[in-house]
Amino acid sequence: MLENLFPVLSRDGNSRTLAQLDAMAESRALPHGLLIEGDSPAECVELAEIMAKVYMCGCDSVLSGECESCMISDSGEAHPDIVTVLGEGKQNAITVERIRNMRVEAQMSPTKGRSRVFILVDCDTMNMSAQNAFLKLLEEPPENVVFIMLCRQRMNLLETIRSRAVAVRIEGGSSEETIPDSLYELADTFACAICSPNDWDAVELSAYFIRDKKDNAAAQKELLQFTGLIRGIIRDAMIISAGAQDILPKISQGAKKLSVVSSDKLEAMLAELDTIDRSVEFHITLPLTVTAMVSRLKRIKNKK
Ligand SMILES: [Zn+2]
Repeated sequence: MLENLFPVLSRDGNSRTLAQLDAMAESRALPHGLLIEGDSPAECVELAEIMAKVYMCGCDSVLSGECESCMISDSGEAHPDIVTVLGEGKQNAITVERIRNMRVEAQMSPTKGRSRVFILVDCDTMNMSAQNAFLKLLEEPPENVVFIMLCRQRMNLLETIRSRAVAVRIEGGSSEETIPDSLYELADTFACAICSPNDWDAVELSAYFIRDKKDNAAAQKELLQFTGLIRGIIRDAMIISAGAQDILPKISQGAKKLSVVSSDKLEAMLAELDTIDRSVEFHITLPLTVTAMVSRLKRIKNKK
């Protein structure tokens, strides 16, 4: 059903997502937390809006236009019960204040329909205090409220948020904000260096993020992209050690090297990278953060 409404889902690699979302659309039911991950923010928003409309729809045949909710949407007006929450400020992130306001809004009864939907755009850029505030809301969601969370990298979200949501991924979207190839290469070499017996390899590579004060903001942003890439490499390593490497489009050297590390240690590394992201967000100085990253990842790797 959804492939007509949103043809992106007929693209390669999306059949599972399509089946999952079709089942939700068929029953016009959504989980309290639906997480949509994809490289194109615009596609994520479009899909979230479709799912919200389907969920609100009271027509006999879904979205055929005769119910009140469809009529509002078709008129081009904003549906009062579908709220899009956007980021603010330099980081373009949803703030903790916005989450607190949303908490109040979520307690109010719906204006038109039977429920309210909140669409959180780029929710993986929320800092830790915003994520924690949101987590509280997700843990005890008000009745008849659904949160659709959109992100590029769901691993940037707290595990406790992820575990309370049903996650789907749109494959093959292109991002307006591309990560430079050089950063991919750096992440791959760094992952190899973590496995190297020589401690200095990783230290040397991490010096890339230590720059002049005026270049600090760019370095912070790149470090967050970098930790995201390292997470991806670690997840690939887990896939390889589970013997499922056939599903990977390509296998990096770093993932190959890390795949012999125990899964406990790889999990510990993922948690460590979350801590590193938090330090970046709290503006702990980059030399300290980067040094901590190298020494802790190395320590985890070398633990007996
Ligand atoms: Zn309808």
